[in-house]
Amino acid sequence: MFNKILIANRGEIALRVIRACREMGIKSVAVHSTADADAMHVRMADESVCIGPAAGTQSYLSIPNLISACEITGAEAIHPGYGFLSENANFVQVIEDHGLKFIGPTAEHIRIMGDKITAKETMRKLGVPCVPGSDGGVETIEEARKIAADMGYPVIIKATAGGGGRGMKVATSADDIDVAFSTARSEGQSVFGNPDVYIEKYLQLPRHIEVQVFGDGKGHAVHLGERDCSLQRRHQKVFEEAPSPVITDEQRQRIGKICADAVAGIGYAGAGTIEFLFENGEFYFIEMNTRLQVEHPVTEAIFGIDLVREQIRVAEGLPLSFAQEDLVINGHAIECRINAEKVPEFRPSPGRVAQYHAPGGLGVRMDSAIYDGYTIPPHYDSLIGKLIVHGADRPTALARLERALSELVVDGIDTTLPLFHALLREEAVQTGDYTIHWLEQWLETGPDI
Ligand code: ADP
Repeated sequence: MFNKILIANRGEIALRVIRACREMGIKSVAVHSTADADAMHVRMADESVCIGPAAGTQSYLSIPNLISACEITGAEAIHPGYGFLSENANFVQVIEDHGLKFIGPTAEHIRIMGDKITAKETMRKLGVPCVPGSDGGVETIEEARKIAADMGYPVIIKATAGGGGRGMKVATSADDIDVAFSTARSEGQSVFGNPDVYIEKYLQLPRHIEVQVFGDGKGHAVHLGERDCSLQRRHQKVFEEAPSPVITDEQRQRIGKICADAVAGIGYAGAGTIEFLFENGEFYFIEMNTRLQVEHPVTEAIFGIDLVREQIRVAEGLPLSFAQEDLVINGHAIECRINAEKVPEFRPSPGRVAQYHAPGGLGVRMDSAIYDGYTIPPHYDSLIGKLIVHGADRPTALARLERALSELVVDGIDTTLPLFHALLREEAVQTGDYTIHWLEQWLETGPDI
């Protein structure tokens, strides 16, 4: 059993982990930059350590500073949250070299899944259906032209190291392929330090469906159904729900078993998410995230379990606390990602929160680290909170979301709240009838937000 865990993160996810620690009787250590000295995670943890200046590269991304913070406080394990160093295999290696425990999978599994070409190859071999495309990387423009012509346009060129919606370029015809190829390569190099790219068929009307898996690191794994994250802007999720309104129980069990077997087959430890595009009843693997996802609470809501607690237990070497047959879906859950941004331009709007009032009541969960008088620093992600609602079915969850949104007050800064108010008035959102392109197309029509 761990006595003390250090959380290598900030914001709502740091609070999320601190809460799980407290319920498990484990002491928590917050780390923070100088810009975050007044942050809620610092106040809520049992101890805190300043690990550097505002710039993420000198604080939350500084491996030596994080290791020193563990040594100073006597923390035995590190929870990475999401983002920052959560999918950095080198970080895991250094943690282990110092006799500490990383709460997550092995460095090797992170490395395999962090490189999308290797991830796809591995998943294909494990029997997971993938998006049709190049066999591995594509090195020359001639090769790219030939593969695209054989497969048929449109195609998408993707940086193997890409993430966060960056490093992907669509070519709708042979006229675009040269530019798409060279831009994806140069973005891969400049943003992720790796120019390698591969090609996939560009699916035109898919939904984004992802399967939550959990492995015990000893060859046993379960799946916790899917999340539907089809409402996206610039390939980034905005609104997520579980279960998906379009997946049948037969489809859920089929793809869930494929995913659980795949991660069991590699002896995966902890939480993971296998992402798919779903079109015409077929699933196509796109990538695996080897960490907790931003949208994990919708899965927690419908299964009534604590995924962070489970991550900590698995890192302690304990078995999973549930079997596949214990995991029965109860109702429907929806999450809205609320950002400090001015809509409709989505321009970052950091600054002082004059007033904050969180919604409450039955089936409402607000995960946020803001408070009255808090100043949102301009240096980090613009996510300021996640509103999660849970109800007996999708219509109940939607009505509850509307009610909870009407209670939520964030004054002093601009937020994306008007976007959600407007979305709930849309027929497509009410019926769940949309693809990954719906939100952007709707935004182009100039909705009243
Ligand atoms: P990232 O790692 O940047 O999140 P992903 O590979 O997970 O990249 O893709 C993110 C999003 O990009 C998907 O949810 C989808 O909207 C879009 N996308 C990715 N691959 C394809 C494809 N082959 N066809 C159509 N859309 C795609």
